[in-house]
Amino acid sequence: MLRFAPSPTGDMHTGNLRAAVFNYILAKQRNEKFLLRIEDTDTARNIEGKDKDIMFLLNLFGITWDNLVYQSHNFPRHRQLAEYLIQKGDAFYCYCTKEFLDQKRELAKANHQAFRYDDDWAELEKDKNPHPVVRLRAPKEQMGFHDAIKGDITFAPSEIDSFIILKEDGIPTYNFACAVDDMLYDIDFIVRGEDHVSNTPKQILIHQCLNYDKTMQFAHLPIILNEEGKKMSKRDNASSVQWLLDCGFLPQAIVNYLVLMGNKTPCEVFTLKECMEWFDITKIAKAPARFDIDKLKFLNREHFKRLNEQDLAVLLGYKDSAIGALAKLYLQEASTLNEIREKVDLIFAKKGLLLAQYKESAKTENAEILEFESQVKTLQDTLLTMLNQDCSKTEFDTFKSNAMQNSGLKGKAFFKPLRFLLTGLAHGPELSDLFPILRLYLKDIVRN
Ligand code: GLU
Repeated sequence: MLRFAPSPTGDMHTGNLRAAVFNYILAKQRNEKFLLRIEDTDTARNIEGKDKDIMFLLNLFGITWDNLVYQSHNFPRHRQLAEYLIQKGDAFYCYCTKEFLDQKRELAKANHQAFRYDDDWAELEKDKNPHPVVRLRAPKEQMGFHDAIKGDITFAPSEIDSFIILKEDGIPTYNFACAVDDMLYDIDFIVRGEDHVSNTPKQILIHQCLNYDKTMQFAHLPIILNEEGKKMSKRDNASSVQWLLDCGFLPQAIVNYLVLMGNKTPCEVFTLKECMEWFDITKIAKAPARFDIDKLKFLNREHFKRLNEQDLAVLLGYKDSAIGALAKLYLQEASTLNEIREKVDLIFAKKGLLLAQYKESAKTENAEILEFESQVKTLQDTLLTMLNQDCSKTEFDTFKSNAMQNSGLKGKAFFKPLRFLLTGLAHGPELSDLFPILRLYLKDIVRN
């Protein structure tokens, strides 16, 4: 079984989503079940409702799960197993107070040494501290594992102190709850961010002490860098899945990008379903991947092209599939749903109002603007009169020459206001390409 194990302590990051996508793909490829495990062990940092946000987002990205567990529901089992490890001698109570450990940390620092927990300290403060933690005894030998992306990784015993498995309030730590639950739910392949590499030997040690000998496979995903090549942090907008969605990136384009990033793939544009045919986690590059928003924009445009016109219209807030077709004509210059919506909304904007806005933003009323305004008004009156007849089948050339003749405008003095009245903008796709769709809505478009 595979799993995605988010903590409900904050918004979903692109890195988290990437792990979810990869685990989901592997589950489907291997025909195994997929578990969603909400890791709510950090009771102080859990945020109410984040679990539901995570589920909403996963659904949006087409990721469904066969089984859902809240880690806190298993706390009694975690405690039972910690008790078993104490009985077995693999774990022990540690009464060290925070002050005591801080002091030891200071001392190590002063001696320019790395801080290491010493098992002999465990009971020194027994009288002072009624709330001991439980620690698992550090390994005596080197530990290691094979990572599907990074290769073989080993850790010296000194790199793994006797670490805490139950906190003073009896709540299991991340490492303990995670290792126990991976065992209880028969997880056999773990894909997660590389910030967890150093946790892996601890979790393997927990399994060994619990006499669990299933061979687990691991893949730790390299970090994602921002466009400056630094580790992506919360301050980088693109680190937030919600931000990407709010900008108008399609879920299918985001998934495409997360699979493509730092990967060797047989093609560039694909859906989640399509990439299941060939996805191979061992092809993910060891080096961190740099987030390239332009690449994501390219993929977004490609997925817009693939989208059926009715669906695109609905996403833009319109009913007719023709609006979806119209939107596709703007893909040369618009990449996100918001950018496309802006273009389409301008086509249907009241042109009198729009002109007033332009004049206001230009601040000074120069002769050029006044002239343009008068041309727009002349042409608008002409078009509105022409629209008393049905133009829904009129060819662009006929429409154009009739409008030119009836308005008396020519050349730039005709084409500039025409483009403005039909699209609300000074530049854009060829009017002859747009017109076969625009002619269906001319009364709504040319209105004042
Ligand atoms: N709750 C951990 C996280 O969100 C899960 C890590 C893991 O997959 O084991 O980073």
